[in-house]
Amino acid sequence: MTKKISLVLLTLLLISALFGCSENKQQVAVNNHHIKKKVSVQKLGPSFDKSAPMKQPGQGVPVLMYHSVADGTNNPVVIAPAKLDEEMKYLKDNGYYTITLDDLYAYFINNTPIPEKSVVLTFDDGYKDNYTAMLPIMKKYGFRATVFVITSYIDKLPGYLTSKQLKEMEAYGIDIESHTVDHKALKELTKPQQQQELTESKAFLETLLKKKINYIAYPDGSYNKDTVECAKEAGYTMGLTTDGRWSMKSNGLLTLDRDYINSQFDMSKFVDRITNPNYKFNY
Ligand SMILES: [Zn+2]
Repeated sequence: MTKKISLVLLTLLLISALFGCSENKQQVAVNNHHIKKKVSVQKLGPSFDKSAPMKQPGQGVPVLMYHSVADGTNNPVVIAPAKLDEEMKYLKDNGYYTITLDDLYAYFINNTPIPEKSVVLTFDDGYKDNYTAMLPIMKKYGFRATVFVITSYIDKLPGYLTSKQLKEMEAYGIDIESHTVDHKALKELTKPQQQQELTESKAFLETLLKKKINYIAYPDGSYNKDTVECAKEAGYTMGLTTDGRWSMKSNGLLTLDRDYINSQFDMSKFVDRITNPNYKFNY
């Protein structure tokens, strides 16, 4: 008799547990649906395929440096959308992966594998055309990129990204990082001024994007000993220059080179920059 009662009780408990679960699942489904409706952007998957041939530890990686993406200029730092598309198509067709700066950091620090054919795409200054012209190209190829933004320009200067655009880009998988508050040549500033440029831009972006900002690109590649100390104190784990070659751990993580892609390069020069670590350095 006692056994029978226990059995009935157990069954009742199981039923209530099952009902409880399905109710929770329904609730989660409703919540997810709500979130999906609110953020209607496509989110990128992993930045690379783990079955790809992997790079040996301690190698260099081309971190490509771009700026504005627009037509109608011969400015070497303004690339035409069609030209950027052609370069991205080359990367896609030839099995390159656009890894993130987080991937690069893990490779440098822990030898976490990255594909042999890895590149990092970076765009400096935070031009509005990074949203209107660059983002559609990244979406077309499923590519990742980092945009280094000047925080005092956000929502202030018409040619630059707004906080709404930055949030949307970040939600898609474009990494937003710091390019200081005012884009001043850091090595011309006092140490406290440098500190302010580095910490205030970091705090601003962390509040806006609700994530940790770990990386900084020094405006015009200008830096000195104070810059590196300030970057370290502020909590940046990698700093990027414009020194023009592939990024190597031996550069020092707060003074990493970048591979400058001049918008006037023909395709053979572009290919040389991403395949030949010893390319002839010139602007
Ligand atoms: Zn800049």
